[in-house]
Amino acid sequence: MASTSTEQTIEIGELGELGSMTLREPATFWVTNRAYEPSELPLNQFRPLTSDQINRGITQDAHWVRVRLSNADAEQAQHWVLHHETSYLDEMAVYFSDNGAPLEKVLLSDRQPFAERLLNYRTLAFPHTTPADGYTDLLLRLQYTKPDAMSLNVFLSRADHFHSQSRGEYLIYGGYYGLLAALIIIAGTFSLIMRQGVYLWYAAFLLASILMWALLNGFAFQYLWPNSVFWHNEGFHIIFLAVAITALQFSRLFLQTRYCCPRIDKVILAAQGIMVAGIVLRFAGFYTPVLYLSFASLALLALLPILGAIAYRNGMRYSRWYTVAWSLYGLGLLISVFSAGTSLFAWGMAPLAYAQAFSALEAVFLLVALGERLIDWDRDRLQALKIANQDPLTGLGNRRALNEAFDRVNAIPRSSERSVFLIMIDLDNFKAINDHYGHDAGDRILTRLGNLLLQLSRPQDICIRYGGEEFVILLEAPGPEQVRLMAERIRKEFSDTPTDYEGNHIEHTLTAGIGMAPSVGRRFDPDALIRQADAALYQAKNAGRNRVVFQMSEPEPPEGQD
Ligand code: GH3
Ligand code: MG
Ligand code: MG
Repeated sequence: MASTSTEQTIEIGELGELGSMTLREPATFWVTNRAYEPSELPLNQFRPLTSDQINRGITQDAHWVRVRLSNADAEQAQHWVLHHETSYLDEMAVYFSDNGAPLEKVLLSDRQPFAERLLNYRTLAFPHTTPADGYTDLLLRLQYTKPDAMSLNVFLSRADHFHSQSRGEYLIYGGYYGLLAALIIIAGTFSLIMRQGVYLWYAAFLLASILMWALLNGFAFQYLWPNSVFWHNEGFHIIFLAVAITALQFSRLFLQTRYCCPRIDKVILAAQGIMVAGIVLRFAGFYTPVLYLSFASLALLALLPILGAIAYRNGMRYSRWYTVAWSLYGLGLLISVFSAGTSLFAWGMAPLAYAQAFSALEAVFLLVALGERLIDWDRDRLQALKIANQDPLTGLGNRRALNEAFDRVNAIPRSSERSVFLIMIDLDNFKAINDHYGHDAGDRILTRLGNLLLQLSRPQDICIRYGGEEFVILLEAPGPEQVRLMAERIRKEFSDTPTDYEGNHIEHTLTAGIGMAPSVGRRFDPDALIRQADAALYQAKNAGRNRVVFQMSEPEPPEGQD
């Protein structure tokens, strides 16, 4: 090999306490798009490997790195490991020689099954030993067989440090994958219980995310498909696209974009179509266009917080957690894509690590958002239920509420001390009042009567507006006398307090009929009870109005009495 000058030497002993470093100056590097043998390399063109040269963008060029590692220790040989930062580097050819011996070559490639690696490690790694008081000349060729994002971050670690650190990584990554797996189980369970697509898509998004990060971390190749060179290489962009497609689909359902912003919804749908086409193209053998499409798709997710903000402005309170979640993660993905895919930044793959941490936060925030959505929906449902059971003019219950009250009362066995009664109230000559003072005056009177019923009944009594100017009170009492007294109090109060409306002093009266459920301790027939009260009311009207009549037994049919 060509001689290596002393200023390109790294002293292995300098690894010191840290036990690990990234190869930098005095290491040098050179980029070429042609195939070279080590002996043909123009060594004078090698430049110092500085931090700002680390990110190379998307490229298929060969990146040569050159350095001498020396071991000043006269007693001890140094065991070390050289390993690349990313899991997806296609090839790392290592040319090495100890103490000036002939150059040897090892080709590390992720186009071979995982088991063929020198080390059982998630990225390409090369172990070696530099003899005591000796040196090792190193020449690395880093290259993709098809264009991809190149980083020149190569780590040099003392062997003991490398092994203890990779054990530490398992703990951190184990926690990360465990959290995501737990969230997938929660989301999957919810999707089964709630039968709502949004939970299923959330779970699908998490599943795609977990795969993406397992690919990027190198664990997917190590553990999931150690023999599938396709999934470890071409699979990346398929999974990137799957993450984007599921994230968009989840967003469409979660924010109901079809209703909240139909135009944007169509754009998202079109974008998803293109991404699906990208996946199909990759299976059909297309490479570079799919690579750029997958990078762009991930970067596109940085726009999702805007979608969340639009939904929030449209009154979707629960979209705020969604917006926070995607603000963090979307930004992380955007910066990662630009850092890895271009040579603009000197960050290596560090943004990816932050993005991965944000992805865990995001998954939790999205679950909170789903929970908030559930609470909102439940509140809306209760509100709708309340509206459905309420008379809008008086605020009393309506007929539907009465039916529910009948069911409730009938569900509980009654003691012999209490019977069920129904007071039916009808305003007297109300049509004439409407005709004379106007419909609004009539409404005012109905509202007042509604309030009067609430005032003069007990909290547990059920006050209903049964029809236009007909009201009902369903109540339990020890005997008919108490009920008659209550009805009488209502009648008297109503006739004693005329309604003032737009300068008019409107006198009014009402008539009430009382029915009593026939049997104690058994279910009663609500229709019979209503018929009974209605018959009593009819009697009272016939007897001259403004009075209360109690009817004990099931009445005769009222035909022919008109
Ligand atoms: P009676 O003493 O026999 O009950 O005579 P009435 O005039 O009260 O009975 P009728 O059934 O002939 O008329 C009921 C009137 O109630 C007719 C309708 O204009 C009025 N009404 C029904 N619903 C409303 C309402 O929501 N607001 C107002 N202002 N009037 C109503
Ligand atoms: Mg009437
Ligand atoms: Mg009437």
